[in-house]
Amino acid sequence: MCERYCDYFKRDREDESVCRGIMALQRLHEAGHVFENFPDRGNEIDPEIDAIIARSVCAECEWRDADCDYRDTGAGLKASPCGGVVLLALLLAAGEIDKKDIQKFDP
Ligand code: SF4
Repeated sequence: MCERYCDYFKRDREDESVCRGIMALQRLHEAGHVFENFPDRGNEIDPEIDAIIARSVCAECEWRDADCDYRDTGAGLKASPCGGVVLLALLLAAGEIDKKDIQKFDP
């Protein structure tokens, strides 16, 4: 999953920590959500969808303050989001999950 969707994936990385986007997907899966399709990567994340993910998923991400250039407002959103956020946005846009699924992770 990370290899397919994340620009920061490194095959030889020993650290097994995952972003909060992947955690959210894992929790949805554990709660019984069945993912029918994993969409191909697109280009832009819809700003409305991004705002939902920022509030519900990224707000408490351990990487947000120190390591995430995407959520660093000073970076002007020029960096890519992590793969978990890419996939969450694609699944939302494709209707595989809905806003309520994401809002379950509101801090
Ligand atoms: S986009 Fe950044 S803050 Fe949001 S889940 Fe990914 S790494 Fe964390």
